[in-house]
Amino acid sequence: MKKALILVDIQNDFVPGGALPVPNGADVVEVANKAMEHFDLVVAIQDWHPAGHKSFASQHKGRKVGDIVDLCGLQQMLWPDHCVQDSKGAEFVPGLEVKKIDKVFHKGMDRNIDSYSGFFDNGHGNATGLGDYLKENGVDEITIIGLATDYCVKFTALDARKLGFKTRIIIEGVRGVEVNKGDCEKAIDEMIKAGVEIISMKSLK
Ligand SMILES: [Zn+2]
Repeated sequence: MKKALILVDIQNDFVPGGALPVPNGADVVEVANKAMEHFDLVVAIQDWHPAGHKSFASQHKGRKVGDIVDLCGLQQMLWPDHCVQDSKGAEFVPGLEVKKIDKVFHKGMDRNIDSYSGFFDNGHGNATGLGDYLKENGVDEITIIGLATDYCVKFTALDARKLGFKTRIIIEGVRGVEVNKGDCEKAIDEMIKAGVEIISMKSLK
């Protein structure tokens, strides 16, 4: 059975200088580059929104970033415009060894629903193809690095567990948004409860 490394949203808009910066987000690039050689497959996820995506506060009159709205029956946190398809902000962070990435999956393309997980949209209505790809390639264990701990990393890890993958997070390789203080810690607890293993770079052999 194979092991895959999943790189979540290591994109310009999610690191300092971008539209939705995760504090110290760029730190994960070096960890990702070092980790790659330990895996059979390296897969990257990119947040990939059409302009005018409904997760953008700019699309809701009278609303601001951080507000929660109802979007097709789901609670949606509003974000600044970010990761618009083919924009500079949606590109991988410079320095990430993209040549070693075997496959890229996009999420968040449906204007009307957000997608934190690399596997499904937030309503679990549509799959990105990541789950089938991993299964077709005989992957039974995935290890996650990327942004942000309390959103896309968490939801990707939780879906991976639901799909039956052995799932690990490399703690040095994730950073959180922390809209509310303590969000990262809560996210880690939630992942552990779901059976996600938290590991450190030292344990990669
Ligand atoms: Zn997004």
